[in-house]
Amino acid sequence: MTESFINYLWQFQQFDKSLLRTTRQESLRILKTGILNTDAGPDFSQARVQIEEIEWAGNIEIHIRASDWNNHNHQTDASYNNVILHVVWEYDKPIVRADGSEIPTLELKPITDGSLLHKYQALVDNKNVIPCAAQFGGVSDLSKIATLDKALTKRLIQKAKLIETLLAENNGDWEETTYQLLARNFGFKLNSEAFLRLAQHIPLKVLQKHRDNITQIEAILFGQSGLLVDVDDYSKKLVQEYDFFAVKFSLKDTRLEPHEWKLLRTRPANFPTIRIAQLARLITLQKSFFSLFTQTESIDDLRKALQVRQSEYWQEHYHFGKKLGKKSNGLGKDSVDNLLINTVIPLLACYAQKTDNLAYMDRALAFLESFPAESNHIIDMWKNMGLSITTAYDAQASIELYNNFCTQKKCLQCNVGIELLKK
Ligand code: SF4
Repeated sequence: MTESFINYLWQFQQFDKSLLRTTRQESLRILKTGILNTDAGPDFSQARVQIEEIEWAGNIEIHIRASDWNNHNHQTDASYNNVILHVVWEYDKPIVRADGSEIPTLELKPITDGSLLHKYQALVDNKNVIPCAAQFGGVSDLSKIATLDKALTKRLIQKAKLIETLLAENNGDWEETTYQLLARNFGFKLNSEAFLRLAQHIPLKVLQKHRDNITQIEAILFGQSGLLVDVDDYSKKLVQEYDFFAVKFSLKDTRLEPHEWKLLRTRPANFPTIRIAQLARLITLQKSFFSLFTQTESIDDLRKALQVRQSEYWQEHYHFGKKLGKKSNGLGKDSVDNLLINTVIPLLACYAQKTDNLAYMDRALAFLESFPAESNHIIDMWKNMGLSITTAYDAQASIELYNNFCTQKKCLQCNVGIELLKK
């Protein structure tokens, strides 16, 4: 037995409710089960029950045994003083509040259908990486869609947390935060942390003063990245410019070291040098990344805005003095989509939360539906189970479902699992 199973029994009222009685044999009516609380404190809040003639409003606490109340030290925690009903699997002792009054208790074991527990146990004990795989085909589309929506919302909230952290570090400056987020994503996983450090050490305001001069922007970014080496006329010019700006803006103390960049096993077209040059070009073209990403309503307009071509030198080189075999055409469609998915979508989700404006969240979700699904082994598994995955929305939701529900056996928090138990 687990507390999450008892939570499930209570939340979905999966027990015999005819002639409900507390352990003191008082009549009991459940008027409102309450809202599940995933933070500290009682398990359900804002519940309503009627015991004998009196109606009570307050919290519900769930335990396997009644004595767990004391084992968890709730008797010394004031946040449990408003518990109106203690719901337990087994009643092994009466529990009293600080004022000496006994907490009304409902014991579920005698009024729960034992086959429900067996079904749950069989589901979570299944050794398949997706425990419900064999039964998944028989589940309704409604449950599948509801659980995918829930998983995707969770994923967006998780991604928004990184932005919240950056925003706090930037004292609530959305513009600086958006620039740092975008720069981080120019690292395309392998170099994301180095790109973030680079952006954090060069305030956007410094770069924006030189927006009309791409050589100066490149000089500051490459000089500060630690990747700048003096090997030809172009790099010589950047070194001279950087030396001037490094003194002017006191940059050298925060310059990155070359070893902080990952160049091995990177295709020349993805070299961080080329990505820095593309970021430099974007900085010259966009006055405000934050306005661009939050005010543009068309995904095609956003794509166009990011489809930039780096300066001429970087169309032909992948490092200082090192020529590309084939001329680079700038940011490709997949890279642009990757930047949009990892920058614009979480930014809109975070902004929606912070401003309490769901229109931004709706736009983030609509954008996700307009990207094609990526391909990986998790998505292949779901497809083999008959799940239709065509857009980035489906793909991201199914990856989250697998990683944070299925592999952790959180089947009771999943609409698919709940439907299977009801069958
Ligand atoms: S979490 Fe949901 S989809 Fe995943 S195995 Fe459990 S019931 Fe199936």
